[in-house]
Amino acid sequence: MRILITGGAGFLGSHLCDRFIKEGHSVIAMDNLITGKTRNIEHLAGNDRFLFIKHDVTNYIFVEGKLDAVLHFASPASPIDYLTYPIQTLKVGALGTHKALGLAKEKNARFLLASTSEIYGDPLVHPQEESYWGNVNPIGPRGVYDEAKRFAEAMTMAYQRYHEVDTRIVRIFNTYGPRMRLDDGRVVPNFIGQALRGEALTVYGDGTQTRSFCYVDDLVEGIYRLLLSDEKNPVNIGNPHELNIIQFAETINRLTGNPAGLVFQKNKRIEGDPQTRRPDISKARRILGWEPVVSIQDGLRLTIEYFRHQLAVDG
Ligand code: UDP
Repeated sequence: MRILITGGAGFLGSHLCDRFIKEGHSVIAMDNLITGKTRNIEHLAGNDRFLFIKHDVTNYIFVEGKLDAVLHFASPASPIDYLTYPIQTLKVGALGTHKALGLAKEKNARFLLASTSEIYGDPLVHPQEESYWGNVNPIGPRGVYDEAKRFAEAMTMAYQRYHEVDTRIVRIFNTYGPRMRLDDGRVVPNFIGQALRGEALTVYGDGTQTRSFCYVDDLVEGIYRLLLSDEKNPVNIGNPHELNIIQFAETINRLTGNPAGLVFQKNKRIEGDPQTRRPDISKARRILGWEPVVSIQDGLRLTIEYFRHQLAVDG
C-alpha cells in the first residue's frame, strides 16, 4: 500500500509511520510541525519508501501518484496544546478533515480518522461504549478540540454515506509512550519529567479523577487492525485498566525511585476535565480480536527510559 499519514511527525503519527514501513508499505508523512517534531521521523530519512512533506492540511492537499489509504492524525492533542492553538485545532479538525477526505475520494483511497475519547466529554456513562453520545460543553476551553473531533466524525460519516468513501473511525483513549513531548503538558510527560528531576508530582484538583492509559504499541496494533477490517462505524481503542491520578502518580514515583511525593494543585484543573474515563473495548475485542497486552509497569518503564534520555540530551 501507499499511505498518507497527516500529523506524521507527531507522537502517534510517527509510530504509525514506523509500523507501516515495517510491514513493507510506502509512507508519506505530512505535518506542519506546530506540535510535531522532525526528530520523531529522522530515522526514516533515506528510506526510499518514506517521504516527508511539510504542509498545513487545512489548505488544499496535493499528492502525486496513487494512494491506497489516508490516515488523518494531524491535530494538537494535549489540553495545553489545544489551548495554545485553539483556532488551528478547530481548523485542522474541520477544514483539515474535509481536505483529507477530499483527497481520499479523489484517489479512491481508504480513509481513517483519528477521533478521541474527548468526544464523550465529561461522561455520564461509565465505561464509555461507542453508542454513547457524550456530554460536551461546546463553549468550554476543551470545546475547541472536542467539537472539532465531533465535526470530523460527522464529516467522515457524510463522505461515507454520500460519496461512498471507504472510511474508518478510531476513538483513541489516553495513550503514552516514547516521543511524547516533555513539555506537552499532559500528565504522563509532566509526572515523569518531574520524577526524573526529583520534584514532587503536580496532582491537579484532588486527584480522584480517573484515566486509563494505553501503551503506544498496543494502540498502533489496534489501529492497524481497524484499517484492514470492514468496520465502518467508530471503534474505541484504549486500555480499560483504570487508575485515579493519585494512584498513577504513586506508580511513577515508585518506578523512578522519586522520594519527593505529590503536591496538590487544586486550581490547575482545566474546566471540563473529565472526572472518569475508561473505554469499553468489547467491540474491538469482538471485531478486531484486539486487546492491549502491555502492562502499565512495562509501558511506563519504556517511557521513563525514553524521557531519561531526552532529559540528558535537552537538559
Ligand atoms: N493532570 C495532573 N497533573 C498534571 C497534568 C495533568 O493531575 O501535571 C491531570 C489532569 O487534570 C487530568 C489528567 O491528569 O485529570 C489527565 O490529563 P492530561 O492532560 O494527560 O489529558 P486528558 O486526559 O485530560 O486529555
